[in-house]
Amino acid sequence: MNRYDFPKVDLHLHLDGSVNPKSAYEMAKERKLLIADVPFEQFRKGMVLEEEIESLYDYLKKFDVPTAILQDTEALERVSFELVLHLADLGLCYAEIRFAPQLHTKKGCTQREIVESVIRGAKRAMQQKTTIQVGILLCTMTLMTVEQNQKENLETVELAKEFLGQGVVGLDMAGAEGIVPLIKRKPLFSRAKELNIPFTIHAGEVECAENVKTAIEFGARRIGHGHHCIDDANVLRLVLETKTPLEICITSNIQCKNQPSYEAHPIKLLYEMGAAVTMNTDNMVLSNVTLDSEYAIAQKVYGFTRLDLITLNENSIRASFLSEAEKADYLNRMKSYR
Ligand SMILES: [Zn+2]
Repeated sequence: MNRYDFPKVDLHLHLDGSVNPKSAYEMAKERKLLIADVPFEQFRKGMVLEEEIESLYDYLKKFDVPTAILQDTEALERVSFELVLHLADLGLCYAEIRFAPQLHTKKGCTQREIVESVIRGAKRAMQQKTTIQVGILLCTMTLMTVEQNQKENLETVELAKEFLGQGVVGLDMAGAEGIVPLIKRKPLFSRAKELNIPFTIHAGEVECAENVKTAIEFGARRIGHGHHCIDDANVLRLVLETKTPLEICITSNIQCKNQPSYEAHPIKLLYEMGAAVTMNTDNMVLSNVTLDSEYAIAQKVYGFTRLDLITLNENSIRASFLSEAEKADYLNRMKSYR
């Protein structure tokens, strides 16, 4: 049941963290994967976080199951299709779904085939549910060193250009923040800028307020998480002055120990300072959340009103990679819910 009736937007949503566990189980069995040799409930526990965890490592471990399954175009098309249908049922009008093509090539698919299959699934779902529109963000990945996947990252950037406007709306960089200084990624994002591809970057999620500054200097149109910008007065000022939108995902931040508690999370503070805050789920299945459940927390813990929540969604539309005409259209629709 949808508790909030206004049009909802999710800009920070990972495909691999949002795979329906029943479908995953079915696909794992079809593919005769060993991970499916357990009862469903046990399998589900491997991909949904319900327990208190020790570290970010335990969180990331939950990606192993979907990553093992999502290695062929059929599986990727299916999860993309099902996720978009599900988002429509949850009352979302717009979402940007992200994933890293290079993580799905273990069984020989090319990044291009992977991207095509995800677009195919999303388009098929949009034909069935006309209340929702989605755009795909392609994630480049930060691993242990720059060299490790430089080639793959550059390939993702070129593919984003090729499919821009045909399902893809932009780029992202995900992965373990802080291991490689973000500044070393400059060539990648210079290329993205040269190709006129809008991008967001995971930055200031784990700590590293400085990364938020670097991302803005690269030309990032918004910041994935970014809540740690509040730790550095200069970076905070930059975020506020440039009105760079922040893709906040409260539950995920707490689960990953990037904030000690809901109460300590600076989302409301940033909002009150005038930052362009947006609220998102990050990983709906892994984090076991929906936008509605996050909104309920936001109301209870931070005292956000219904009107605030509508404002957050308006922020999301403005921060999205939609065209200006499409943004105006959505904002107009949202007005009637005020
Ligand atoms: Zn993320």
